[in-house]
Amino acid sequence: MPTRPPQEGWDLHCHTVFSDGTRTPREMVQEAKSLGLHGVAIADHDTTAGWEEAGQASHDLHLPLMRGTEITAQDGNVSVHMLAYLYDPRNRHICDLFEKTRRSRVERTKKMVALLAKDYPISWQSVLEQTKEGSRTTIGRPHIADALVAAGVYANRNEAFADAVSTHSKYYIPTPSPSTSEVVRAVEGAGGVSVIAHAADPSRNRVLLSNEQIARLADEGLDGLEVWHRGNPEDQRARLLALAQRYHLLVTGGSDWHGAGKPNALGENLTDDATVAEIVRRGAIPLCR
Ligand SMILES: [Zn+2]
Ligand SMILES: [Zn+2]
Repeated sequence: MPTRPPQEGWDLHCHTVFSDGTRTPREMVQEAKSLGLHGVAIADHDTTAGWEEAGQASHDLHLPLMRGTEITAQDGNVSVHMLAYLYDPRNRHICDLFEKTRRSRVERTKKMVALLAKDYPISWQSVLEQTKEGSRTTIGRPHIADALVAAGVYANRNEAFADAVSTHSKYYIPTPSPSTSEVVRAVEGAGGVSVIAHAADPSRNRVLLSNEQIARLADEGLDGLEVWHRGNPEDQRARLLALAQRYHLLVTGGSDWHGAGKPNALGENLTDDATVAEIVRRGAIPLCR
């Protein structure tokens, strides 16, 4: 198990216009190729909508692609993002899980917009206009932030996230999410590989997942931890590596690239080839190439 971030390999955590990224799947593959990455994974929030375009681009541009999704979950009072790789997208249980999440996310975003519209010049329509792929985009707070920027309230998305769209704002409504155990089970049932994204990022959670929570998830079938991510501080990386060793979890890395939507640079964190090969061995569907 590598204990230092790999210098070459795959970026296993990338977002496109099919969730809150600003680039298309084809642009993602193109940029990964020009950077000399060994491959790239698409991991849009709670959707597989970008898989087809990404697969076609991977084939055309001769860069291997791993198909994945970042799933929002809840573990007690901790909001957890889980990366799911190479699962069968036709599996009924996992389709139902996404459908339920997407429906409740739309409802929750509508409620937040209704609250914000009392004080700011935005509407549900102006938020919908910020989604690049219409109803195929997983809608959420980034699109509210973009609508506030378009209305001239904030200069950019980050300013909106620091104020009206923040989790501490009076307009905030939490996303209803499945439990981490449900997600691990659903991904396993669909033949995929589950990894906790940015597993110890204090800027996202005041309370981090405890050793006991991670141990329980490992016992329930969790495959790995995303250790190499800009959000995990040094001391937390050491804790995560120790847990990975103890519970035989895979160690992955990814940039959490969002195109121009976030400062994260494609390929800034990577997963080594041996770990990618193990994910492929466990997965239900092959890489695209
Ligand atoms: Zn995330
Ligand atoms: Zn992400």
